[in-house]
Amino acid sequence: MRVINDNSCGWINQLNKRTNIKLLEEDIFCDYLVIGAGYTGLSAARKLSEVDKNKKIVLIDAQLAGEGGSSRNSGYLVDTTLNDGFTSNKDKENYIIKTNIYKLGIEAVKKFIKQYQVDCDWNSCGKYFASSNLKDENKAIEFSKLLNSLGFDNKILYNNQLKDKLGTAFYKIAIYTSGGVLLNPGKLVRAMIDTLPENIKLYEKSEINSWKKINNKIECISGKNKISARKVIFCTNGFLSSLNIKKNYSFPITLTASLTRPLTNQEYKNIGSPKEWGVLPIRPMGATIRMTKDKRILIRNTAETRSPFLMNKSDLSKRVKIHREGLQKRFRQLPNDIIESSWSGIVCRSGNSSQIFEKIDDNIFTAGCYNGSGIGVGTLFGEQIAIMASNQQSEEINVIQQRKKPNWLPPQPFLNFGIYTRLAYERIKARSEI
Ligand SMILES: Cc1cc2nc3c(=O)[nH]c(=O)nc-3n(C[C@H](O)[C@H](O)[C@H](O)COP(=O)(O)OP(=O)(O)OC[C@H]3O[C@@H](n4cnc5c(N)ncnc54)[C@H](O)[C@@H]3O)c2cc1C
Repeated sequence: MRVINDNSCGWINQLNKRTNIKLLEEDIFCDYLVIGAGYTGLSAARKLSEVDKNKKIVLIDAQLAGEGGSSRNSGYLVDTTLNDGFTSNKDKENYIIKTNIYKLGIEAVKKFIKQYQVDCDWNSCGKYFASSNLKDENKAIEFSKLLNSLGFDNKILYNNQLKDKLGTAFYKIAIYTSGGVLLNPGKLVRAMIDTLPENIKLYEKSEINSWKKINNKIECISGKNKISARKVIFCTNGFLSSLNIKKNYSFPITLTASLTRPLTNQEYKNIGSPKEWGVLPIRPMGATIRMTKDKRILIRNTAETRSPFLMNKSDLSKRVKIHREGLQKRFRQLPNDIIESSWSGIVCRSGNSSQIFEKIDDNIFTAGCYNGSGIGVGTLFGEQIAIMASNQQSEEINVIQQRKKPNWLPPQPFLNFGIYTRLAYERIKARSEI
């Protein structure tokens, strides 16, 4: 089955079209094969070229590199998350480990950006966890207490304070956390592609259809061609299970998002000329919404279980209607036809919100499953799984290995039924926040 994406992602379409795309058109051999060229695979390949210099490294993607989730996300490089079940102190130890991983993720992206002088609209402006419903006040207070106890700078804001900051009177309560960064995800991943070291061979639009281990090598089939590799790192995130990797531990969820055109000066003035901001929902299925550096508004307010391989135009347009309603609820002063681009993307989830980072066999490795925090964690996990695959150790690996492992999931069709029911329940609870 082929991964077919819409080609209407606003972040991607702001960039120059790439040229010099190489497809796999012959049988090849390599020391390392990295499958999937998002943040994880690109970071893994780059790190391999550093730590195991003279080896033959191949990176392959079913689509154009970076044009999966890595270009299609909302651009929050997070230091803290709220909707992973951590609203009280009951699982504090795990939350500490999780935020330690986020911290390393931010550092990994920062280091990359500094090293290559990347412009990705980086803004350390923090973020808001917000709700339009004061019933969420307790949850906000509990979370704020947890953040205080861990030393994360935060404050609770209400009504008019939020209106001044966000330019909408929709939100009644929020926890503002000053850590975390907003960026342009398309620019970031494009920089990772543009700066790939020369000793990495990148093949695109070349899907791996199947693989098997024969003696000490892994043989991967891509269309009519074969790749034999001494070691393989699977970085296909939401598509891990379709390659039989960690099949009973992760699953894909399809999200859709829209980006408006830049607001005119008058429109911007009408909403109070707020500085760039990002809001994440206090209720799990609520909307992610942000004001970008160039005065566009991004909204993401759908999450569902469906085939991760395709979202057709008609299905996408139904979701755009929900985005438009979400914008209108928040910004009645703005015209209702300002959406310029809309797209779908895949995230990978596990039952207990834990990430995958694993040596599966002597020469098979995988990293992925970050839910909505793959910008930093994907970059980190990519680098660190490469270090592990080259038989080396690091402090970061020790931190990563302290996390809870993803728990076992029931087989299909029970799994999809369970996910569907849970999402429907969360969606009802969050209906005011969509
Ligand atoms: C709408 C949306 C909003 C999000 N918001 C945020 C956010 O604000 N902050 C954040 O940190 N994260 C966010 N995420 C999640 C984030 O985008 C992902 O966690 C991140 O992209 C994962 O990176 P990755 O490299 O592991 O996977 P991906 O970027 O998904 O890359 C996997 C690659 O594998 C390729 N592939 C799949 N199957 C095969 C195959 N058989 N053969 C070859 N190649 C294959 C795909 O084509 C793809 O390019 C969001 C995601 C979406 C969709």
